[in-house]
Amino acid sequence: MAAPSMGGVSLPRGNGQVVRLPRGASLTDLAERIGAQPAALVTALFHLGEMVTATQSVNEDTLQLLGAEIGWDIQVVSPEDEDRELLETFDLTFGDEGDEDDWVARPPVVTVMGHVDHGKTKLLDAIRNTNVVAREAGGITQHIGAYQVVTELEGEERPITFIDTPGHESFTAMRARGAKVTDIVVLVVAADDGVMPQTVEALNHAQAAAVPIVVAVNKVDKEGANPAKIRQQLTEYGLVAEEYGGDTMFVDVSATTRQGIDDLLAAILLTADASLDLRANAEQDPQGVVIEGKLDKGRGPVATVLVQRGTLRVGDSIVAGDAYGRVRSLLDEYGNKLKEASPARPVQVVGLTSVPRAGDTFLVVEEDRVARQIADRRQARIRNAQNASMRKRISLEDLDAALKENRQLNLIIKGDNSGTVEALEEALMKIEVSDDVSLRVIHRGVGSITKSDIDLALADDVIVLGFNVRAEGQATELANREGIDVRYYSVIYQAIEEIEAALKGMLKPEYEEVALGTAEVREVFRVPRIGNVAGSIVRSGTINRNSKARLVRDGVVVADNLTVESLRRFKDDVTEVREGYECGIGLGSFNDIKVEDVIETFEVREKPRT
Ligand code: GDP
Repeated sequence: MAAPSMGGVSLPRGNGQVVRLPRGASLTDLAERIGAQPAALVTALFHLGEMVTATQSVNEDTLQLLGAEIGWDIQVVSPEDEDRELLETFDLTFGDEGDEDDWVARPPVVTVMGHVDHGKTKLLDAIRNTNVVAREAGGITQHIGAYQVVTELEGEERPITFIDTPGHESFTAMRARGAKVTDIVVLVVAADDGVMPQTVEALNHAQAAAVPIVVAVNKVDKEGANPAKIRQQLTEYGLVAEEYGGDTMFVDVSATTRQGIDDLLAAILLTADASLDLRANAEQDPQGVVIEGKLDKGRGPVATVLVQRGTLRVGDSIVAGDAYGRVRSLLDEYGNKLKEASPARPVQVVGLTSVPRAGDTFLVVEEDRVARQIADRRQARIRNAQNASMRKRISLEDLDAALKENRQLNLIIKGDNSGTVEALEEALMKIEVSDDVSLRVIHRGVGSITKSDIDLALADDVIVLGFNVRAEGQATELANREGIDVRYYSVIYQAIEEIEAALKGMLKPEYEEVALGTAEVREVFRVPRIGNVAGSIVRSGTINRNSKARLVRDGVVVADNLTVESLRRFKDDVTEVREGYECGIGLGSFNDIKVEDVIETFEVREKPRT
């Protein structure tokens, strides 16, 4: 096959063959797969109007554009597929194995959603505190991100698992990562308020995920509570109460008086029994999802995981997202040590080498070595993908500007837990100041700011953000010595404000023209050694010596970029002449001045940023 020439560089032409690349791949990666020189691809892409370096991640559209041009069918593999393939190389799959008949019934996993202030948090507290087991254990409940309660239904003790982070973010974040955790949504609606925007949003999320809903009509203790109105309102959204002939269970509760909590728990179980067949293989290698991750001062990285199948035990080799390790201890929500955790059990895992992110899946593998290899491969992939998404595409038009000035603010974000770091990063990436400056997170992580973070910061123009964490002693010294900007925050919006201000500070000043005055030429004098001088009358504003000027003739700008070099009234040099007065204006070497021309003067000022 003849090699096509693009900009003088020859490339191996594909015949529509498929090349599979991970998201975030660079031209070097592509070059390797198709046996080309990376530089040739850079040039080819340049001719297509995109400027990237050989090692920079290239987005999917651009890769496909390039592929089409050189005859290769480039397929960018989704992270999910890629992960599946990664696990396959270790003979692993994420999911229930074996014969469904051997699976055992498992408790439902519930997420509480609803409008702000309708009582989600209080309801979760009330449910936790009515728990029989909690009283027996006598333990102090701790927030680990999820808990289990046991309730009696038809003479049988049955557990229910609650995700203890109310709100929609955790639900959608997990779904976005492909983790299906929630079996049932409890939709909280305050009886004294009614259906509100976030009620509808929650409902939409649940329905989109095909998750059954139980409605908790809360605050029925309050004066003005109107539970019937809630039922009525929700029929409009397709939630029809059982008592009205529908199939949604509505339960009147009060998180304050704890009225109706038992009924709510019963309704959850009845709904699960009626519409879901919740089973899991309890025998296979354990797997599940990370609910929350944080760095604990004493214990190191701690992750709350929800076991979805199999039985997790102390001593298991585990890989959770890009973290791995050996399970050192398992703790429940009362701080009790557990030997094992069965399906739908939320449990804190101690023993990981780093902090996984909420929504990451975990697997138990045969050997530590496998866990580490999977974690390493995932780390590399996450890094690539992040680089790809953070980097803005540079078009050919912008190339000049981009090469001349690289106005990019680099950040390193460290925080006390993975949730806040992600939330902060997400919020910061939403800041839009101007196309001229961009923000890039070059590193993020959970834990204190270390010397290696500062080392990294040294390389570029970097601000290091510590969210609820501080720099270690050595790191502080190094940062001080090298003048690295390290900032501490405990409130997200404050970080946003400051970073926004920093970005604005990086903007090139913008200038605007402000008109100062106009003068009409009445007569032209020829002055030796000076040239032509315009005998004029100031028609508006003022004419100032040294101000910028242009000459307009019959409404057309004849000359721009002039300067009022001399300004006289009678025999005197003056600096300013006001409206209505006559004066002589000299425009330097510019002599093409005619009677009735208009001289406009203006000033260029820096525009204040809004
Ligand atoms: P969230 O934003 O949905 O998590 O709502 P919260 O749980 O923080 O509750 C918001 C406010 O409503 C708090 O002041 C609670 O004390 C109050 N509240 C929650 N549930 C009830 C209830 O059943 N009865 C009454 N009277 N107040 C409640």
